[in-house]
Amino acid sequence: MTTISANLQAVHARIDAAARKFGRHPSEITLLAVSKTWPASDVREAVASGQRTFGENYVQEALGKRIELADLGLEWHFIGPLQRNKTRLVAETFDWLHTLDRLDIAERLSAQRPDSRPPMQVCLQVNISGENTKNGVALAEVNALAQQIAALPRLTLRGLMAIPAPQEDEAQQRDAFRQLREAFLQLNNNGLQLDTLSMGMSHDLEAAIAEGATLLRIGTAIFGNRKNKL
Ligand SMILES: *Cc1c(COP(=O)(O)O)cnc(C)c1O
Repeated sequence: MTTISANLQAVHARIDAAARKFGRHPSEITLLAVSKTWPASDVREAVASGQRTFGENYVQEALGKRIELADLGLEWHFIGPLQRNKTRLVAETFDWLHTLDRLDIAERLSAQRPDSRPPMQVCLQVNISGENTKNGVALAEVNALAQQIAALPRLTLRGLMAIPAPQEDEAQQRDAFRQLREAFLQLNNNGLQLDTLSMGMSHDLEAAIAEGATLLRIGTAIFGNRKNKL
């Protein structure tokens, strides 16, 4: 068994254990394999172990891999910061976008999404308290932006995403994820029909599952430590 397939098995075991512990069903939780910095050959290895859904952060890097792996029919999610001048490439090549936080970017994506493809599936990135990045919409502004994005014809708003500041303590990890879940429930109370809570990474997937994550974005625990590479 290769390292990647062993790692994938271990991640699935963690998901199953956490789901059991917190009264969830593993089938409610999608595993997104974050392949940034890793070559197409590593993605192929993960595919050989049954993984079909991959996340990338850098447009150019992702385009190269997509071409190399076009024969496999994989699902690709863009999870990096998105600049205005890259929206067309993302609209043309990705199935999902997790880092939407501005209406002007959303309008460009909707206009640029090719008619030959289904609407782009998007999550709003939320900057929950304690998050040490400038990316993401503030909690107070989530509802207004979500309503505007949900009205765009070529995007389908699926839910919310966050990257909380790293915490060691599971209770603190859960506090951040709980804020995202509460915002998500509020949007559905306000008439939206969202089904995706994109939260949880290699170090905090258990806390994310405890708070209702439906999609985990996992890189290191599957492919290894990027610090040795970059
Ligand atoms: C890199 C990255 C991940 C994966 O993080 P790991 O700690 O390697 O699991 C998840 N989400 C985003 C937005 C990322 O940039």
